[in-house]
Amino acid sequence: MSACLVFGDLLDFTEDPGGSSAAPAVRHTPDGALWIVDGHIRARGARAAITALAYEAHATVVEHDHRGCLVLPGLIDCHLHYPQIGVMASWGGQLLDWLEGYTFPAEAAFADVEVANQTAEFVMQRLLAQGTTTASVFATVHAHSVDAFMAAAERAGARMLCGKVMMDRNAPAALCDSVASGERDIPALIARWHGRGRLRYTLTPRFAPTSSPGQLALAGALLQSAPGLHLQSHLSENAAEIAWVQQLFPQAADYYAVYEQHGLTGPQAIYGHCLHLNPRERAAMAQAGTAIAFCPTSNLFLGSGVFDVCRRMDEGLKVGLATDVGGGSSLSLLQTQAAAYQHSQLAGAPLPPLRGWYLATLGGARALGLDQMIGNFAPGKEADLVVLDGATIPELAWRLARAERLEERLFAFTMLGDARCVVATYLLGRLAHRQR
Ligand SMILES: [Zn+2]
Repeated sequence: MSACLVFGDLLDFTEDPGGSSAAPAVRHTPDGALWIVDGHIRARGARAAITALAYEAHATVVEHDHRGCLVLPGLIDCHLHYPQIGVMASWGGQLLDWLEGYTFPAEAAFADVEVANQTAEFVMQRLLAQGTTTASVFATVHAHSVDAFMAAAERAGARMLCGKVMMDRNAPAALCDSVASGERDIPALIARWHGRGRLRYTLTPRFAPTSSPGQLALAGALLQSAPGLHLQSHLSENAAEIAWVQQLFPQAADYYAVYEQHGLTGPQAIYGHCLHLNPRERAAMAQAGTAIAFCPTSNLFLGSGVFDVCRRMDEGLKVGLATDVGGGSSLSLLQTQAAAYQHSQLAGAPLPPLRGWYLATLGGARALGLDQMIGNFAPGKEADLVVLDGATIPELAWRLARAERLEERLFAFTMLGDARCVVATYLLGRLAHRQR
């Protein structure tokens, strides 16, 4: 048995705090301690009391002293494309042009296994440097692009979801698979990676326009082929895209109906963007428990639209936060939260600071259907943690010196923070990244 203690200013959530800072959903322990046994949370509380309990139970205890820093559950990125890291910050064009001009050429380069291996390792390390411990990750159409990312995640010890992009029409030939190749390759990937350590497979049709009805039906059938499989795709991002879907699937009532008709909805499914949903789509998603990956920097960068995050959450929709790299402009979930706040201001319902941090932790775990394992410091959960130090950024430190309430402090981290204030990241209670 291995035991450790992490000291710091502990913050986590048991529920969506909504607009309230006094909600019982918010658990804040200044000068607290987390007691971790074999990578899982045993207990949390006041430092002196928890320390005494740990030393009573174990002959040796490793101490990680982060007093003065915020200690939160590891951050969760609900949607990103690891092969697109090299086309972040590419100028111009909205969704469909951007796919054509930047995304497809970048993904075509992944025919080379070495490109996939090197990119996967780089992205994995950069996620940890941002305090991101779990992500739902799109690979490319190539099966070995999933092998590359899963292997990097396994070496790091991170809980990750990843899947091979499915795309059998309206894309360059070099990036298309087929129903037959999917029937062969995807079950093999599931057998190789799904449930191995902390890894899970997620079925990944890119979006309705690039899949034939036959391929969408295959994704729906495969989703049922093993317990605990996930599904990720895109929905209602851009006006031209929505019109295209209407043209390609004239019999469907709306965009979401295309996914419903192929068995691609429910609590294991998450869709990026969801900016222009009609009332029927919103009600159907809430009822099915289908989640939304809110991608604020990408929505602004590609000019796709404004997401009304608070109203969607209040309607009962499950929402997680996502960077959507390479359409997104940052891998940081702090900068992503700042963009989320800006969206919410434009929508006329500003995102409260505590609710933003809920989205980046437990909200994301729920959106991905992983909240039994991660998302907060409940006993028995996996001890993935991020440590934030406001002193690392002078403007942030200056602002924090003038902040009194917890919300003020958290909001300063939201708006002024980035990877510079992530001083340590832990996976299963083990140090996985430390800032020099
Ligand atoms: Zn995306």
